[in-house]
Amino acid sequence: MSKLIAIDAGHEYNTAGKRTPKFDNGDFMHEWEFNYAVAIELEKILKRCGFRTLNVNPDKSETSLAQRVSKANTAGADFYISIHANALTGKWGNAKGIETFVWPSKNGSSEKIGRLIHKHLMTGTNMVDRGVKDGSWLYVIKHTKMPSVLVECGFMDNLREAKLLMSSSYRQECAVEIAKGICEGFGVKYVSEPVNKETPKPAPSPKKESNKGVKIICSALWTYNSKDWNDKAVIVHKDEVFTIISDKIKVDGGYMYQIKSGLYITASSKYVQVVNL
Ligand SMILES: [Zn+2]
Repeated sequence: MSKLIAIDAGHEYNTAGKRTPKFDNGDFMHEWEFNYAVAIELEKILKRCGFRTLNVNPDKSETSLAQRVSKANTAGADFYISIHANALTGKWGNAKGIETFVWPSKNGSSEKIGRLIHKHLMTGTNMVDRGVKDGSWLYVIKHTKMPSVLVECGFMDNLREAKLLMSSSYRQECAVEIAKGICEGFGVKYVSEPVNKETPKPAPSPKKESNKGVKIICSALWTYNSKDWNDKAVIVHKDEVFTIISDKIKVDGGYMYQIKSGLYITASSKYVQVVNL
């Protein structure tokens, strides 16, 4: 049977302190938003590569560290990956880079796969290398029965990295590199995303739409007055408003926004795939 990978999206949505400092417009990102987006994407990629997956904190609701570890232990997972974004002081500062925590052991799978994940993250991103570190003090590394690795994919309190952590392309990149490390660790061939964009399953019909997610196809540029929209691109879907990160371009006293393709999460934990025309 194929290996079972437990995926941990780091924290709960409202975990105290786990967020970026506020941007000038008062906005901020919960660490969970990054962790969860990467977790969802990683799950998709690992399945494509033939793994089975177990999402140990699949939604915003509270799942304690003990509950997550217990889920993975009970299911007999073969590997546990915990996805995080880092912070130093919680105020904008200069700490930067990626670090990976493992259970240090010369012949152990945690260190072996952790080093592979870290290698791929360093290859695929343009981030500072903070190294592979002893994570034996971390709950999810200490109490899991299977090899476990925790990645810190950048600093929420570094302005440049916070913006990266909020971008769907960087989230996607992290998921891809983590998956490549896991594949290499288990001797499984990494399977790239099919090039043919026609192949993905058709969007669910509106009546059957579940909480799983929806695809929205939108034009690449939207325009509106930035005052009203708080400097963010907003999409309304089924009475639900969610914000997406986009490039802002000043035009004739107003602004245009480049809507970016990617997975976005709504306030009620639905995720929405945005596809540019
Ligand atoms: Zn964290």
